[in-house]
Amino acid sequence: MSDEQESKPELIPTKIYKCKNPECKAWVREEFGSEGQPCPMCKGPMMRSMRHLPKVQNKIKRQPKKKDPWT
Ligand SMILES: [Zn+2]
Repeated sequence: MSDEQESKPELIPTKIYKCKNPECKAWVREEFGSEGQPCPMCKGPMMRSMRHLPKVQNKIKRQPKKKDPWT
């Protein structure tokens, strides 16, 4: 019995923009970028792409605590 979900962050395909310059490794998540945005590193053009990234957990929606029926 081991809880592997705790140690292995789930990677999900995430939409990103990445720099078209093969020598530039810059990329941003789609939610932090916009269509036609220049590369933050070299100011070159960016293109849509996908990348497997760990789930973002900094956008947790506040959920009202459900009342526990057992208490
Ligand atoms: Zn770049």
